Amino acid sequence: MMRLPKMDHCAPKSVEEASSLLKEHGPEAQVLAGGTDLLAACKLRNTRPALLVSLSGIEALRGIDFHKGEGLRIGAMTLRARPPWGRSTTVSRMFGSAPSRLSC
Ligand SMILES: Cc1cc2nc3c(=O)[nH]c(=O)nc-3n(C[C@H](O)[C@H](O)[C@H](O)COP(=O)(O)OP(=O)(O)OC[C@H]3O[C@@H](n4cnc5c(N)ncnc54)[C@H](O)[C@@H]3O)c2cc1C
Repeated sequence: MMRLPKMDHCAPKSVEEASSLLKEHGPEAQVLAGGTDLLAACKLRNTRPALLVSLSGIEALRGIDFHKGEGLRIGAMTLRARPPWGRSTTVSRMFGSAPSRLSC
């Protein structure tokens, strides 16, 4: 089994904190969401970021909201399998309650 190379990892709690880490470290840092692609690429040594900035602790990036005049916002860390439909009755009305309606 291939091992991950040594990398620093941080888990900011806000978009602002994540943005400032990415700005500070430039191309040496990479955003980590679920890690499906990125961690496999790291194991294969196709990429080797010095710092992984995980978005998993940023609650503001989860969820689906609809605001009249602004439109639909799907957070970058919203899970396809279990979107939080309950938060917005407008979204539930527009897309129904079954995740299968979000086929891609
Ligand atoms: C073995 C394997 C099987 C797969 N099977 C499927 C499948 O069956 N169906 C399917 O649809 N896809 C599949 N994929 C593709 C994969 O699921 C998608 O590419 C998915 O988008 C990866 O999501 P992630 O959250 O794990 O991303 P990560 O691996 O965490 O990140 C992927 C890239 O996006 C960047 N990134 C992540 N979040 C952000 C952000 N908010 N802003 C800017 N950049 C960001 C990362 O830095 C990285 O470069 C597969 C991939 C692999 C390796």
